[in-house]
Amino acid sequence: MHLNIVVLPGDGIGPEVMAAALPVLETALRRGGHTLAYTEHPVGGAGIDATGKALPDATLAACKCADAILFGSVGGPRWEHLPPAEQPERASLLPLRKTFDLFANIRPGFLPAALAEASPLRPDLVAGGIDMVCVRELTSGIYFGQHRRITPPDGKDTQAEDVMAYRKSEIERVTDAAVAVARSRKQRIVSVDKANVLACSVLWRETVSARIAATAPEIVLSHMYVDNAAMQLVRAPAFFDVLLTENMFGDILSDEMAAVCGSLGMLASASVGGTKNRHGYPFGLYEPAGGSAPDIAGKNIANPCAQILSAALMLRHSFGAHREAESIETAVRDAVASSAARTADIAFGHPAVGTCEAGNAVLEQLEKQ
Ligand code: NAD
Repeated sequence: MHLNIVVLPGDGIGPEVMAAALPVLETALRRGGHTLAYTEHPVGGAGIDATGKALPDATLAACKCADAILFGSVGGPRWEHLPPAEQPERASLLPLRKTFDLFANIRPGFLPAALAEASPLRPDLVAGGIDMVCVRELTSGIYFGQHRRITPPDGKDTQAEDVMAYRKSEIERVTDAAVAVARSRKQRIVSVDKANVLACSVLWRETVSARIAATAPEIVLSHMYVDNAAMQLVRAPAFFDVLLTENMFGDILSDEMAAVCGSLGMLASASVGGTKNRHGYPFGLYEPAGGSAPDIAGKNIANPCAQILSAALMLRHSFGAHREAESIETAVRDAVASSAARTADIAFGHPAVGTCEAGNAVLEQLEKQ
């Protein structure tokens, strides 16, 4: 297979972790008999500095010709004086999500057993590590409904309202995305809602159940109320395999999942949509779950694993290259277990290595396979 991607390193630690991730991606592909072509473009603050726009026209045009986007991270103090709508993150990621209709956010909660101590949870709860995926609906629900303030004529008792709305078709398509994830894992989905209170959640539950029964009967589906899910994530994180939920619940639960997994430097994320790429897989944007970490940028101390694991996610979801994705994930797991890839955020008494060294350690593990 020939993969044609766009690489957008962005700001802060973005270029450093991207430089560590690309050789790993290239090696995994070469070993699998694939070829890779990529072009690098400025985005975020780097885009503003180069062209005055966080998403320069040439960057967007390149994305439109590609099969997937490998994104670093954007933002930093240098651009904080700009109006909110022109800030790097908002002015680059939102238009990319909108242009490519990236309605499903896929966030693995990944804590290798060797890093169990990174978790704030009791050791016995995470002794075997954590390996789950949160699939969150990203472009509808309460964040996209009408938001308004109503002030009565007497000015007293002001009211505010935010409208949550979901269409059946929006629930069906994100369910399909979760099914695709579940099929490459243990074939189990826990759908999270608040169907004892919200009309949207009743529709959510009915639609998820009907869609899975009709299109993926092999998937074992269960339902959980969101308040219970928030509890179970800290009481028994190993219970979850694929967690499917709507936008606001997913926003909150995916952050809780990230906290339970310890370091942001290990967590990748994907946003995929209905647009298919030339290979017939969803076009997607793949990025670390964290931001541009300006506090550690330029010091060769950032953890590159989240960026490396984002490349693995891209191989799996936008190219169906499951074997190559797994080879990268295994290399990361082995490299942190051997302590050769322990950057400061996951050192825990081991000598901390730099970003480049950690990337090389993952590469070495990959070449050993
Ligand atoms: P952040 O995620 O950048 O950093 C939070 C903490 O996590 C920091 O202490 C940082 O050093 C640490 N961290 C993050 N990634 C790490 C890594 N790979 N290795 C080691 N440590 C890591 O969040 P923030 O400080 O709130 O935001 C900084 C900038 O990033 C802001 O401008 C914000 O707008 C932007 N941001 C961008 C994205 C994105 O590009 N998708 C997401 C979130 C925040």
